[in-house]
Amino acid sequence: MNERTSGHLSEEAVMRWQMGDAADAERAHVAMCAECEAQAKPLEDALSWFGAAARQWGEERAGLAEEWREAKAAAVEEWRASKSAAARSWRSMVAVWATVSVALLLIFGIGLPRWKAHRAAIEAQVQQQQQQQQQQKQELARDNALLDEVDQDVSQVVPEAMEPLSWNTANSGTVSSTGGKAARQ
Ligand SMILES: [Zn+2]
Repeated sequence: MNERTSGHLSEEAVMRWQMGDAADAERAHVAMCAECEAQAKPLEDALSWFGAAARQWGEERAGLAEEWREAKAAAVEEWRASKSAAARSWRSMVAVWATVSVALLLIFGIGLPRWKAHRAAIEAQVQQQQQQQQQQKQELARDNALLDEVDQDVSQVVPEAMEPLSWNTANSGTVSSTGGKAARQ
């Protein structure tokens, strides 16, 4: 189907269809395509109803037909204008809504979480610093404790090491004194 592959009817083609001026291919497409029919049919129905009514009312058919044709063209033009105006206002409403939602998204979607994240990061940093300080304090305390321990060990070790020395000197003193005594004796 050539009409199907060539896509849906353009706005102009829909208008031509509504006016009854559509080409055979366009007519065939509308007959097949529910989407295009839905787009074109409502006005076509209204127009044909008015047309039928006008034809019924008209006694001078030719003159009325011409008048009707002009009226129909004007109606189509008006309908098209109102449709595009509606589309425009719909578009501008969407644009406003999109802008507002983008703003809201920026504020609540990105700004707030980012601010929260920023605050959390700062808090984490502060906490980390505090932890580091505490760690440093703990390390310092541990170092001090180790130093104290070493100091205690050293102060314990030194007398122990010096004990035999002092004992020796005391002993040698006695030895020498006894030796002296012995030598004297
Ligand atoms: Zn279509």
